[in-house]
Parts: sequence; structure tokens; C-alpha cells
Amino acid sequence: MSGTVSLPGRYDEVAPGCSIDLSDNTNLWGPPPSVVRVMASGLTGSLARYPSAYSNDLKRAIAKYAEVEATMVATGCGSDDILDSALRAFGEPGGTVAMLDPTFSMMRSFASLSGLAIAPVRSDEPDIPLAFRSKAARITYLCSPNNPTGAALSAQVIESIVAHASGIVVIDEAYIDFGGVASIALLERYENVLITRTFSKAFGLAGFRVGYALGSSDVIHRVEAARGPYKVSALSERVAIDALTSDTSWVAERAAEVLGNRKRLALELSILGCPPLESSANFVLVPVRDAIRVEEGMRSRSVAVRAFTGLTGIGDAVRITVGPWDAMERCITALSEVLQ
Ligand SMILES: *Cc1c(COP(=O)(O)O)cnc(C)c1O
Repeated sequence: MSGTVSLPGRYDEVAPGCSIDLSDNTNLWGPPPSVVRVMASGLTGSLARYPSAYSNDLKRAIAKYAEVEATMVATGCGSDDILDSALRAFGEPGGTVAMLDPTFSMMRSFASLSGLAIAPVRSDEPDIPLAFRSKAARITYLCSPNNPTGAALSAQVIESIVAHASGIVVIDEAYIDFGGVASIALLERYENVLITRTFSKAFGLAGFRVGYALGSSDVIHRVEAARGPYKVSALSERVAIDALTSDTSWVAERAAEVLGNRKRLALELSILGCPPLESSANFVLVPVRDAIRVEEGMRSRSVAVRAFTGLTGIGDAVRITVGPWDAMERCITALSEVLQ
């Protein structure tokens, strides 16, 4: 088991000196309006006390939002915390986690921390459910829409994987506000599903570190036992509740803007001769030659993107977060200069 988590590039330092950071898929319009209200609302008294150990108020707000029972909700310090806890809850050292290749890079680190090996399934596999089935892994991780490709799995593919899985299937819906099909209906028919979501992307609250999971009360209980108490601070809990109760239309409007700008950006990139992969998320993945050189060239023009090298079936690529159109224009100009 390795002692440290190897963090992907951007976590080392946040785009030093770049005026436009398109490297981490957060909400580039900023946090939702309720945050300002909460920060000004005189929480000070309650902040001397511990929050509830498993964020009961936030669970109730999420349950209402997702239309499930509160016993079907777990919270965490970001959805990373829940993904990590789920691997501890359902994995045993020496076991395996099946996942697409490529997929969310943090999962590799979490698997290694839990002593789990990865059974990769190529994302260009012609029969993805069959490939997952043949791995017979105790844990399956699906990310849909997937990071870094942006591709969403169909409802049929997801259900087929769940129906034939040898254990728990974790479905990461970090980007579900931007496309793909939500798997929440599967919770009514299958016991072996854990859906994870986050306040870090569409909800614009990455700095507060709040994520959640939906699953049967038995699955949720096991995840919480592995997670431990007091992972969401009182301030973060309060901010997340307010965002859920008063900012969902703000979130939906920004997500709609992302969809429009994503289409426009894809068109501009195609004109530049570097069409992105089709995306259902708030980012696009653009195959390029020598991604490191492209990333560095764009950084020197004050635009941060995330480089990937040698992705399975894709090769080198840069991932670009979709945000307000003026930022997209700056990005297109920088990229066209670098590619010249
Ligand atoms: C950003 C992201 C998350 C969210 O992580 P948090 O810990 O909730 O900030 C989860 N999964 C994927 C695939 C992501 O890209």
C-alpha cells in the first residue's frame, strides 16, 4: 500500500498566475447568491458548537431535493470523501475495483490507499457491460458523464452493468447537471447501487467541500461507518442547505449557459482543426499533439487548462472547463496561437 496520495497536476497549485483557470471544472460564474447571505447572517453563535455528526439537517434537505428518504443519504467532505469511504466499506485489501479507462484520476489514488487493484475497462470497448461482467470485481466504479472524456453512459448500459455486477456499483454523478441520465430510479430496483454527487461543480461550492451519496439505507449505513463522524463543517452544511433551498434555479440557469457555450466552443475548436470529444459535462476534452507543450503555451498566455498524456484510446489531450463566453474567447485565442 502506498503511503501518500499522488494528486493530479492541478491540486499541486491552483493555476499560478493565470487570470483564467479552466483546469478544474468548477463553476466559473462563482458561488451561488445564497453564500453571500449565509456569510453575512450572523452564524457566529452556532459555530462554537459541533454540527451533528452526520449532517442530519443537510441530509433532510438533500432527501427533499432528490425525493428519497433521509436514511438513503450520506454526506461527506466533498464526494471524494464518500468515494474513498465506499472503497473502505466495500473493499478488502487485495481486492479489485473495475472502472473505465480513462476515468476520474483520483480513484486510482483512493484504490491504492485502500490496497485495491484496478481492473480497467477501455472506454472504447464495443460491449462495455460484458467487459465489466468479465472482471467480476467486488466494486465497480462508473463515472457518467465521465471525467476526463465527458462521455455519458446510456441508461441501458448502466442498468446492465448493475444487474450483472458481483458487488456494489458506485455511480459518480458529479456532472449530472450538465447531461447524461441520472440513475436514481435504479435505487428502487437494486440494492447494490451507490450514487455520488457533489456541490463542487454545478453548485459552485468547491471550496466548502460538500458531497453526498444516495443508496439503500443499508449501503448508506456501511458508507457512514467507514467515513466516520463530523466530516462536514457547520458552515459548509449551512451553505449547502441554503443553496439547495434557494439557489436551484440559479444553478439550472448557469448549467443551461454551460450547454450553450459548450456547443459554441466545440464549433470554434472544430474550425481551429481540433474538434473536442462529444461532451455531456461542463468541460470538453480536446485531443492534441503534445498536450504538455499546449498546456504550457496556454499558461504563458494566462489561460490554465489541464493536460493529459497518453490516454487509452485517445492519446494526448487537454481538458477545458466551459464557463462564461468571454473566458472561452480568451481560451480559443490562446489555443490558436499555441497551435500555430
Ligand atoms: C470534481 C469531481 C468530483 C467532486 O469531488 P468533490 O470532492 O466533491 O469536490 C467527483 N467526481 C468526479 C468525477 C469529479 O470530476
